Amino acid sequence: MIEFLSLKDVNAAYASELKAACARVIDSGWYIQGKELEAFESDFAKACGVQFCLGVANGLDALTLTLRAWKLLGRLTEGDEVIVPANTYIASVLAITENGLTPVLVEPDETLNISPALIESSIGPKTKAIIPVHLYGRLADMPSIMSIAKKHNLLVLEDSAQAHGASIDAKVAGSWGDAAGFSFYPGKNLGALGDAGAITTNDPELATVLKALRNYGSHEKYKNIYQGVNSRLDEIQAAMLSVKLKYLSTDIQSRRKIARAYSDGIRNAAIRLPIQENVSPLDFEGHVWHLYVVRCQHRDALQKHLAASGIQTLIHYPIPPHKQLAYKNWNSQSFPLTERIHDEVLSLPIGPTMTLEDASAVIDACNSFNGLG
Ligand SMILES: *Cc1c(COP(=O)(O)O)cnc(C)c1O
Repeated sequence: MIEFLSLKDVNAAYASELKAACARVIDSGWYIQGKELEAFESDFAKACGVQFCLGVANGLDALTLTLRAWKLLGRLTEGDEVIVPANTYIASVLAITENGLTPVLVEPDETLNISPALIESSIGPKTKAIIPVHLYGRLADMPSIMSIAKKHNLLVLEDSAQAHGASIDAKVAGSWGDAAGFSFYPGKNLGALGDAGAITTNDPELATVLKALRNYGSHEKYKNIYQGVNSRLDEIQAAMLSVKLKYLSTDIQSRRKIARAYSDGIRNAAIRLPIQENVSPLDFEGHVWHLYVVRCQHRDALQKHLAASGIQTLIHYPIPPHKQLAYKNWNSQSFPLTERIHDEVLSLPIGPTMTLEDASAVIDACNSFNGLG
């Protein structure tokens, strides 16, 4: 059986270092907002090429608190519109609605990332921000998006939850926008051993507000300047992340080897590979392959065929946000490309510990799919 991703294997690769880091925290007697967090924040800021990193409890909070901080700073007001891809994971949209802001869903292009042309035509007088999502580990078209944002004076919050270390022209996720939200959910490319997240930014004002917001709105114990929340990144998780950050680029290289094997080996007219046309070799290298997502008109049959060969696959994602019960009022809206994508996508196994032998078995099984199941 070829697992989609074995988290056990992923963490076993660094088990002795993780256990030593864990023991260090236990023995320190200090468990929240201490040296481990400071060290990780400083290392991750450096890795992203930004001045500030603020650890928070998870990726959703990273996005939600950043928008909230912009409201507190007077840069956003309730009712403002925020542009977001229609085919994203629901967290990007929840962060907007949680803040009383209005999401404007925009279709992707064939890269499956948000279409810059459609962003431009969706901008109205109330539009104040864009949340590009670097879906599946590939950076959105940030050069175009940043120039649109500049032209229309919009804030940009990168949803970098799937794109630690991804880049275009060597400029990495988390350093393009005014701020970025990261998730360190265990299955992400940089994963904690529990929940964790972070915000990166070069904006000292934003960083200061966020530092208070995540800790009950307080910079100084028992003095609360905002109605904050409890969204802190524990010392234990920060220590785990510091270990794993050291190996992030090696892990990405391992993922790229699998992705390249798939792209070179899968030859089946019924299966569409992740788009690489119009992409320079440099951009291909900038993809961190959080997910390797193929498209197939007979997706469910393909998934069954692969399962029969002992290959576990997943669907990211089966239902787009506008078709969710949580957003009942939007259910009748139509985003044809988004809906087609959700019917066609299938994520093949990929991970830093996957072997080329396993990749080869996946390739063979894909190539023996008769197109109908
Ligand atoms: C995982 C993910 C999030 C949320 O992260 P959590 O840590 O689970 O809250 C947000 N956006 C995207 C695109 C994600 O994949």
